[in-house]
Amino acid sequence: MNAVEQVWRFLGNRLFLSDPRVQRAHHPELMQAVRMLTLDDAQALTERLWHASLEEGKRAVIVGWLNAVHPGATDVVNMLLIDQAIFYPPWLYLGASQESSERILTALAEPTLETPINHLLQCAAWIGDSYVQDRFRVWRESPPEWRNQLYVPPEDYALEAGWELAESGRRDLIRSTSYMLMPGDEAELTPTQMPVAVNTPYADHCPWCGRQLVTLLDIDLRDARCAALLTTGERLCIPYCTWCSLYTTIYMNTDLHGNAQWSTVNGDPPEILAKISDDGYQPKWSQQRLVLGEQRLSPYEAVDWMNSWIPLSQFGGHPAWINDASYPRCPGCGAHMSCIGQVAWEEVQNMYTEGITYAYVCIPCGFAATTYDQS
Ligand SMILES: [Zn+2]
Ligand SMILES: [Zn+2]
Repeated sequence: MNAVEQVWRFLGNRLFLSDPRVQRAHHPELMQAVRMLTLDDAQALTERLWHASLEEGKRAVIVGWLNAVHPGATDVVNMLLIDQAIFYPPWLYLGASQESSERILTALAEPTLETPINHLLQCAAWIGDSYVQDRFRVWRESPPEWRNQLYVPPEDYALEAGWELAESGRRDLIRSTSYMLMPGDEAELTPTQMPVAVNTPYADHCPWCGRQLVTLLDIDLRDARCAALLTTGERLCIPYCTWCSLYTTIYMNTDLHGNAQWSTVNGDPPEILAKISDDGYQPKWSQQRLVLGEQRLSPYEAVDWMNSWIPLSQFGGHPAWINDASYPRCPGCGAHMSCIGQVAWEEVQNMYTEGITYAYVCIPCGFAATTYDQS
């Protein structure tokens, strides 16, 4: 059976698509087959999936994911998608051609009531080519008529696709490589799994609530994979508070020797923390050990948090935003901090919790940060 047929066995299969447990069970097999696809294969599969008798929303999710893994796979259906006004998920347009970007920008020049402006802007951001960058730059200088219909300026939609306008061109806020953080057995850790530890106890306590801090990511920078993804150095630790971090961004002062301190920029606890009653509950954050796993096919593999066949925890890559993108500003230089990974709570615990904690750094300024989001 060739790679296209092997992937089709899963993604074209109603039973697979309807049962998250079946999906998780077959995840390694599916990924092995997806890994074998060439871009031509991925495009052939996209066409087949698009014309298959699948529920419309589901079809867009599946094809969108295939495009996130093999950017450009949807090139064969992008014109059709635009004709049919299908603009969700926006990463259906990742790697799309210049023709797609022109058509979406034209639609934004003369918006109609049928197509929400924010959907078009997200698709443009996911294309993110020089045409989109130029238009975002023009809009930043002279906002379009429909600006008042949006909560944020048009150019801020770039953040949803992991980049922002730079002095010239774009600045990416994500790492272009990504490794899965997979369940591992403490007793049987192999050396290749060890360079990134997840949710380990940290020596200090939270100055706001008194809980012991937890190191979300403890990264051994002497490992070639970690150094290539982040920077050369010894060790980077990103601690957070399992309670206070649920409510606000927490900043830490970090260095590349494994030191981290609660930053004074955190100031006083936000009002919300005073309003909610703290019963001292300590979430069991370390029931399941996560270890460094396989490199993902693309940094966008886990972009869709609703996609139940992909484990979300990862080192590097594009975040799976549950709500809007929320890159914190670096307290040192004021620029958006870049995301270096995420941990999904349901993957470290057995039950009762959900949501994702995201990790960010600004290495030159020595700041790390965490944020949390849930549905
Ligand atoms: Zn705390
Ligand atoms: Zn900075």
